[in-house]
Amino acid sequence: MTPSILIEVELNLLDYQESLKTVTDYLRFWEKLSVALQGVKLVEGKTHFLESPDKGRIGLQIISVPHGFSVVNKDSRFAVYSVLEKPALRYKCGICQMYGPFRCAGMNCEKRLCDKHAIILDGNMRAYCPDHVPKCKGSGANATFWCDGINCHGRVAWSDTYRIYHPNDPDHWYCPDCFALEFPACNEYGCQDTGTTRCEYVDEITGKSCERSLCNRHVRRWQIYGPHKLGAALCSRHANIKQYRVQEILYQMVAITTRQLQERQTRRRRVQQDFIALPSLMSIRHIFINTQNQVMNPVEIDRHLDDLEQKLRAMRGQFAQSMARLLDQSKSKRNRELESFDADQSQGLNIFNRLKEKLRLQGEDVVVANLNFSDYRPRTKLLFVYLAQQYRGRLIGKQGATIKRLEQELDVRIQFEDKEPTVQ
Ligand SMILES: [Zn+2]
Ligand SMILES: [Zn+2]
Ligand SMILES: [Zn+2]
Ligand SMILES: [Zn+2]
Ligand SMILES: [Zn+2]
Repeated sequence: MTPSILIEVELNLLDYQESLKTVTDYLRFWEKLSVALQGVKLVEGKTHFLESPDKGRIGLQIISVPHGFSVVNKDSRFAVYSVLEKPALRYKCGICQMYGPFRCAGMNCEKRLCDKHAIILDGNMRAYCPDHVPKCKGSGANATFWCDGINCHGRVAWSDTYRIYHPNDPDHWYCPDCFALEFPACNEYGCQDTGTTRCEYVDEITGKSCERSLCNRHVRRWQIYGPHKLGAALCSRHANIKQYRVQEILYQMVAITTRQLQERQTRRRRVQQDFIALPSLMSIRHIFINTQNQVMNPVEIDRHLDDLEQKLRAMRGQFAQSMARLLDQSKSKRNRELESFDADQSQGLNIFNRLKEKLRLQGEDVVVANLNFSDYRPRTKLLFVYLAQQYRGRLIGKQGATIKRLEQELDVRIQFEDKEPTVQ
């Protein structure tokens, strides 16, 4: 046998069902095939097909036939150059034999499933074959979702008739019992509405949240995270911020933020806002202006926060420690804020001194003696000053002429603070 008498072929097994894995499989396959080929006339460049009654079709693409050897007999010799075969599927769907990446999670069922035949309930990616679809706890029908509520913990399945959506978040749902537990009626007197929120006020002694359930109408929002974010939810008992002492306000801000961050981690409660952090010193300063009629220097607020951290470290209890950690983490940001505040303020003080100089030249020594610097915002060029009501007319001038001229000369706008400063 010389190479010149070999019939060169390519084997096409794309439509052949039997999968050939080992060399022995191939040899056995070829033995049968060569018997079936006897007497067949082969033509170069053509593909000959052989039908197997139960296993499909075999293709034989003829690359070359040596002269005088075109009809196959028992002495014909072949060289198989390549084999086209179906990609081997390691995981076949138990129903349709296509690729089955899923495995049925049913008890003792190992069935593989393709993405068409895998049944996946809302709320968890576990897949089931049609025989093992979880049944609805209420009706016994095929279930469609897992309840993530307090009773069910994502382990009990229900059908759609029993699904109640979260009032603020359409991506979450509960069974009726869990919904009633999660959202009891509003706690405010005489109100029967569904409580969609709970009071976030934290008791300083126990470290526990008030948790009174509140409907959308009765919830009070304390805007500690800025005007564009949802404020902290408070009930009528705890919403009177104006009565709180400075230390209490700071404690609540830190405690509420700590709890929100914790709940986000455990995902116990659906989070309604994307990002929260402790309010900045300047925001806290604003909160004090609004709730306490008190203008506080950011340095002073920062010192109060440091004191609070010390107090918390001395306390036992994990929650106090978490609060202390949050304060510690915010320290570097607070320092940066104080630095830029200092820079802004010294720029502001400069302008303020020039203002006083100009007033002195006009002979307004009384105004100068009563004028105090409050704040400067470089971006908006606003200069805030304190000046008792009775002197303001002298700084403003007839129809505002004096103040307008001064503003022009100094390239700022002058604003009067309503409240007197506290200790600076
Ligand atoms: Zn399938
Ligand atoms: Zn199954
Ligand atoms: Zn449930
Ligand atoms: Zn209500
Ligand atoms: Zn409350």
